[in-house]
Amino acid sequence: YGDPSQKTDYVFKVVLIGDSAVGKSQILARYARNEFSLDSKATIGVEFQTRTLVIEHKSVKAQIWDTAGQERGAVGAMLVYDITKRQTFDHIPRWLEELRGHADKNIVIILIGNKSDLENQREVPTEDAKEFAQKEGLFFLETSALEATNVETAFLTVLTEIFNIVN
Ligand code: GDP
Ligand code: MG
Repeated sequence: YGDPSQKTDYVFKVVLIGDSAVGKSQILARYARNEFSLDSKATIGVEFQTRTLVIEHKSVKAQIWDTAGQERGAVGAMLVYDITKRQTFDHIPRWLEELRGHADKNIVIILIGNKSDLENQREVPTEDAKEFAQKEGLFFLETSALEATNVETAFLTVLTEIFNIVN
C-alpha cells in the first residue's frame, strides 16, 4: 500500500486485428508474458492481457485485446498481416476500413508484418507495406513473435504515441 510505483496513471486499450493465423495471439503472448507457442490454438471468446510500463515517469497499463470486434474504446490498434501470405496483406485495407468505422477518430494505428523470421518464404515486399503505411498515415514495422524481433518496439511505438496525444 502507499507505494507510488504501484499506482496506474493511465490505462490504454489496444486491439490486435488482422486475418486468422497471422500471429496476433503469439505477438500478444510474446509481449505480455515473453512466451511463444508453435502450435497456438485459434482464439476463442474474448481475451485481453495487460502489461504495465513506465513512460516519462508515469505508469501506463496497456490492456491489449486479441479479438476482432473489441474496437470500442480502443486508443491504439495493431493491424497485423503475415509477410509469407500475400492475401493477409491484401485484406489490410478492409481491416483498416472496419477499424476506422468503429474506433475512436484519433486511434493510433501501426501496421505490422509478422513472421519476419521466414524471410525465404516472403510474399510481401517491405517496400509495398511501407508505401501503404505512409499513404494511410500508419506506423509500420516488421516483427517476429518467434524470435522476439521488434515486438517490444511495436507496442512501445503505439503506447508512446498515445501517451504523447493525451499529454
Ligand atoms: P492468430 O490467429 O493471428 O492469433 O495467429 P497465432 O498467434 O495463433 O499464430 C498462428 C501460427 O503462426 C501459429 O502456428 C504460430 O506459432 C505461428 N506464428 C506466429 N507468429 C510467428 C512468427 O513470428 N514466426 C513464425 N515462424 N511463426 C509464427
Ligand atoms: Mg489468435
